[in-house]
Amino acid sequence: MSVTYEIRGDVAVLRMSNPPVNGLGIATRRGLVESLDRALDDDAVRAVVVTGDARAFSGGADIREFNKPEASQEPTLPTVIARFERSTKPLVAAIEGLALGGGLELALGMNARVADSAALIGLPEVKLGILPGAGGTQRFPRAAGLEVALNMIVSGEPVKAKRLAATRLFEKLVDSDTVGAAVEVARGMVGGSLPRVRDMRVEHPNPEGFLGFARGAVAAAAASYPAPLKCIDAIEAAVKRSFDEGILVEREAFAVLVNTPESKALRHVFFSDRAASKIPDVASDTPQREVRRVGVIGAGTMGGGITMNFLNAGIPVTLLETAQEPLDRGLGTIRRNYESSAKKGKLTAEQVEQRLGLLTPTLRYEDLADADLIIEAVFEDYAVKKAVFEKLDAVAKPGAILASNTSTLDVNRIAALTARPESVVGMHFFSPANIMKLLEVVRGSATAKDVLATVMAIAKKIGKTAVVSGVCDGFIGNRMIEQYGRQAGFLLEEGATPQQIDHAAESFGFAMGPFRMSDLAGNDIGWAIRKRRLVEQPDLIYSKTADLLCEMGRFGQKAGKGWYDYKPGDRKAYPSAEVEAMVAEYARGIGVPPRDIPDSEIVERLVYALVNEGARILEEGIAARASDIDVVYLYGYGFPVWRGGPMFHADSVGLFNVLASMRRFAKGHQGSDWEPAPLLVKLAAEGGSFNG
Ligand code: NAD
Repeated sequence: MSVTYEIRGDVAVLRMSNPPVNGLGIATRRGLVESLDRALDDDAVRAVVVTGDARAFSGGADIREFNKPEASQEPTLPTVIARFERSTKPLVAAIEGLALGGGLELALGMNARVADSAALIGLPEVKLGILPGAGGTQRFPRAAGLEVALNMIVSGEPVKAKRLAATRLFEKLVDSDTVGAAVEVARGMVGGSLPRVRDMRVEHPNPEGFLGFARGAVAAAAASYPAPLKCIDAIEAAVKRSFDEGILVEREAFAVLVNTPESKALRHVFFSDRAASKIPDVASDTPQREVRRVGVIGAGTMGGGITMNFLNAGIPVTLLETAQEPLDRGLGTIRRNYESSAKKGKLTAEQVEQRLGLLTPTLRYEDLADADLIIEAVFEDYAVKKAVFEKLDAVAKPGAILASNTSTLDVNRIAALTARPESVVGMHFFSPANIMKLLEVVRGSATAKDVLATVMAIAKKIGKTAVVSGVCDGFIGNRMIEQYGRQAGFLLEEGATPQQIDHAAESFGFAMGPFRMSDLAGNDIGWAIRKRRLVEQPDLIYSKTADLLCEMGRFGQKAGKGWYDYKPGDRKAYPSAEVEAMVAEYARGIGVPPRDIPDSEIVERLVYALVNEGARILEEGIAARASDIDVVYLYGYGFPVWRGGPMFHADSVGLFNVLASMRRFAKGHQGSDWEPAPLLVKLAAEGGSFNG
């Protein structure tokens, strides 16, 4: 039963029951209408309360119905709400847990609302590039006031019910027995006239002024995110027009938004995010190992950030270093990071001490004996890692998971150093590790399923979005970014400047273009990796301008000069005549004449280089699904969210078109790089797409 029916004296209580959050799927919508009819037909019933459970009144539309015909099957949510609004008996919502999206819209169609003061209230539709489409843009401003409603609709951020106490939204806020209070409110309305939100007026002393201000505030993002402006249009209709006209404006805006590429991309991101946590051959009920205490080895850039993740989640960490000096330095950085958060008001002094209190620094491996998960973040050098893993294997307790944060080394080779390869896994964090959301979980050929299940769960606990990658050079993210970086280098050789390439990438929506990014990370890092790789692969193809740059000591921001010039105390990148001269001379030397390169070609070459390598990663089974690759790029590499990730973007352009561009690039400079991945060729021929 998706809606249960109970009688409390002369009041019927309709209780939604569609776990986990009472999504308003077709069965629930039908159940609501049928139960209401039953209550209206029963002369002994004088009023009705609609509720959910302690976890949720309703989380809104049932996401399992997204893009399925059930979503538009009658009774649709607007139909249910219209029926509720016409009820001849008082109808009161009793809200606990949360009322989001369609759940809140349903409550707004009733005569009154009673909420637990801690319940979460919101209209998050804008985050999917749409707007509340069941009257939310019309009823919510009437009930909550123009400013509160507009801020919540345009941001999509939920708030606690008690923050809305000053508005007309709730008849009553309670701290216990919400249903009991709602029953009393409903009873009190019997015999009186029934208030309806649709009959209220939107209150504000200067609606014109406020709407103008709000438009200005969201206009900057308007092209990439059309939904917020449409939300304001609909809210303006709530202020200026009749209720029924306003509903039409909302409907029309919804129909436009739901078909925009931005909304399709945002919905793709929403589902990709959820899909990433599922591993096809690891059942969701796989038993997990318990992780009560974590060990981290190496208190450098990554080790410190990784440690903070666990401390933030209340999990004690033992942090090991080789000597007191680097240990103290690492601890100092962690403390400073927390203190700076405290200064910004993000943490209290007490919370800082609480977190630091969970941290045990050490120089002795024996202190890791009781850790359930140990993450290694020492120098990226196989010999150093080898020594660490051999010692770890000796001291770690049976069943402890041993993880490496390596960016480039072979996790299978590391696993083979131990007598427990099934307990070894890669946990590839991104810098800064306490901030970046992405975690690549690298699955070795021997990694046990319960280890994977445990690591995925712990990732969630520390607020990361984890994606599983097979073992290969660079895993998903860095393997692809290498191709992107190569194209950036070849574009330089052909006559584009770093600033032109960065500008093109940033106009496409990347947070930072390839050269500014490289200057930030340090150009010497890639240089060191290339030197190592050239030993094994002397014919490695890439633009040597990157090496020449390092030979000039231009390591990036930290050196005050890289692809750009920097001034002390200023992070702004200034074009460098020295770099341009070096690149031009190099290009002359290899016989590449400069040409004007359109920005569109720059963007296509950068992005399709990612796509082509992504297609290989997919067909080799390194990534389980195209959407996992998208998630890696969205959360780890600043790919524009509203484009849905590189693979989704390629699908939107059309794989036939992507392939045609690649074939064109194959005729140009370093064209051999454009050998298309067989999977791409196959899908393009079939008219298929990566994301199915
Ligand atoms: P780092 O040089 O900042 O820190 C390494 C730390 O390990 C140093 O404090 C060093 O004293 C310590 N250390 C070295 N040998 C040790 C040993 N035997 N036992 C204990 N501690 C030891 O390096 P980092 O940037 O933090 O990188 C660490 C690892 O993370 C590397 O494998 C790297 O590839 C990987 N990684 C780095 C980044 C990044 O952006 N920096 C991103 C992802 C992964």
